[in-house]
Amino acid sequence: MEIFRTRRELSEYLLVQNKLGKVCGLVPTMGALHDGHLSLIDVAGKESDYVVCSIFVNPTQFNDARDLEKYPRTIEQDIQKLNSVNCDVLFLPETSEIYLGVESWHIDLGTLDKSLEGELRPGHYQGVTQIVKKLFDIINPDKAYFGQKDYQQFLVISKMVKTFNLSVKLVMCPIVRETDGLAMSSRNIHLSPTDRQNALALHESLVITKQKFPHKSIEQLEEDAKQYLSTIPGLSLDYFSICHSETLQKAEAKDANGLVALVAAKVGCTRLIDNIILS
Ligand code: AMP
Repeated sequence: MEIFRTRRELSEYLLVQNKLGKVCGLVPTMGALHDGHLSLIDVAGKESDYVVCSIFVNPTQFNDARDLEKYPRTIEQDIQKLNSVNCDVLFLPETSEIYLGVESWHIDLGTLDKSLEGELRPGHYQGVTQIVKKLFDIINPDKAYFGQKDYQQFLVISKMVKTFNLSVKLVMCPIVRETDGLAMSSRNIHLSPTDRQNALALHESLVITKQKFPHKSIEQLEEDAKQYLSTIPGLSLDYFSICHSETLQKAEAKDANGLVALVAAKVGCTRLIDNIILS
């Protein structure tokens, strides 16, 4: 695997691949890699001629300086993991390689960044679109791979791609879970053994909702899930919401357009998110 820390080195490599007509698949990450990230690289490897993984803990998407500081950084292990899978290039830039200083950025995301994560983490999706646009500009991938785990993020990036008429094809990959159902996340390493056990309730609440989906109203499903989660010690719920899968507008009634249930909660000191497609 080639490792590039500067745009210039990366560009030289990309130019050669481009001339050969090779299809580029990009997997953007913030590192602290786990099997969820590796699954994206696996899918990208099957659909592209070469895979670029980026690791960059993007400061502009953190609205809490403490969260940014606490974000796990495990670069040595990350490189080992990437070497064990089909990853051709790691792009590992310093912040100064990406940002000139404080840069202004704003994109109209409509209602997408006003609900759920957008509402609770103001500015988060502006930062996400800012970094993903920069990575797309630097790398110009044919395809880019993202996880369903960050469902709202995928919609936000899709909106950005449409806004700028970008030709990159976005691919959403399934959520990879631990054997007991917990969605893999870089933040899971902050969970104490007790938190780790309590955190299972998030996935459980989603699975129960999906099971009951044919038999209960949206309102009842949300109420049941909230009630269940309120019984879990150390879990502080931010939202449990059933939404339209394309717009993330709150679902009022069951319809054929596709619905998704999304949950976010703090378990101990760690904030976790998860979701499940209902229909
Ligand atoms: P992050 O490093 O958390 O920014 O995540 C980088 C990419 O990996 C994003 O597209 C995430 O949605 C994806 N991802 C994170 N966790 C998982 C998971 N458990 N399963 C599948 N994809 C994931």
